[in-house]
Amino acid sequence: MKREPLIDGHGRLIGDVRISVTDRCNFRCQYCMPAEGLAWLARSDVLSFEEIERIVALLVSMGVSDVRLTGGEPLVRKDFPRLAGMIAAIPGIEDLAVTTNGFLLERDAGALVAAGINRFNVSIDSLQRDRFFEMTRRDALPQVLAGLKALAAFPQAHPIKVNAVAMRGFTEDEVLPFAAFAREHPYEVRFIEFMPLDADHQWTPEKVLSGEEIRAIVSEVWPLEPVQREPSATAKLYRFVDGKGTLGFINPVSEPFCSDCNRIRLTSEGLLRTCLFSLNETDLRGPMRAGADDAELEQIVRDAVWRKELKHHVNEPGFTQPARTMSQIGG
Ligand code: SAM
Ligand code: SF4
Repeated sequence: MKREPLIDGHGRLIGDVRISVTDRCNFRCQYCMPAEGLAWLARSDVLSFEEIERIVALLVSMGVSDVRLTGGEPLVRKDFPRLAGMIAAIPGIEDLAVTTNGFLLERDAGALVAAGINRFNVSIDSLQRDRFFEMTRRDALPQVLAGLKALAAFPQAHPIKVNAVAMRGFTEDEVLPFAAFAREHPYEVRFIEFMPLDADHQWTPEKVLSGEEIRAIVSEVWPLEPVQREPSATAKLYRFVDGKGTLGFINPVSEPFCSDCNRIRLTSEGLLRTCLFSLNETDLRGPMRAGADDAELEQIVRDAVWRKELKHHVNEPGFTQPARTMSQIGG
């Protein structure tokens, strides 16, 4: 059944949903989780595969065509490839992606590709083992690189994106190795500016290493030229002038892209969030478990989306960091 398009109160059409399939994670990245971990949700509080499938199908009937499965770490959810297959079978999805830290990719790459995932983002913050450990608090770089290699064996999974969070005082030394990595391998490396969504509340504006600063470091060694992009794309793309690969810059802090934002998010316990930085969320699990039909759920989603924030206020005095960490939202 096709429904009216999903549109917010500022006239933006919603076409993209990020679904967190678990709040659990096997890493403890400094910019996301505390070293000791977080109190995980009870299993009964987390949406079942069938509940996730139902919400995705409803959103797709309202015009959402891009679905990204994330977490926490999505691959730690039991039977995750089966969920991926259930979502892939929903007619109308054009793009089905997974964002992962890569630790379990060696095990799951084949199953996820077979299930119908057509895009992968693998998060890697350093190509040096000791610095990777420092950032993620896990000595896992060899395992993650093995996962990336396993994934690269599947032509259907390309182009593969490698995401690095850019933090001042850490990432400067990673920039040229990552640029070389993007030139030598079929991976699009993308730098994401550090956002105030960390459990430890260590974020300050000074700790953001901007995309422009990184681009300047790379350009001195390997000149770059811009690549045209879709209006709602989050990354600004540049290719090496000599044709050897592409870099992406996701600059939500220094160059907010809210005016083109077509995204909403669903947390693992079924709360709809209309912005990464939302201070309000809308419960879908409660009404669903109380027996709401699709028309009732549709109205709840529409009302929430209508109130989607015009923009984030990260750069403004009085900005309030959401209580949730990135791992509890689904980045
Ligand atoms: N565990 C998976 C992973 O790390 O790829 C998926 C979930 S993780 C929350 C999604 C993305 O958010 C990752 O690329 C991660 O690096 C990024 N991220 C987490 N905290 C962030 C922060 N404070 N600022 C910017 N990006 C962040
Ligand atoms: Fe886990 Fe991903 Fe957060 Fe790192 S960024 S702690 S891998 S959820």
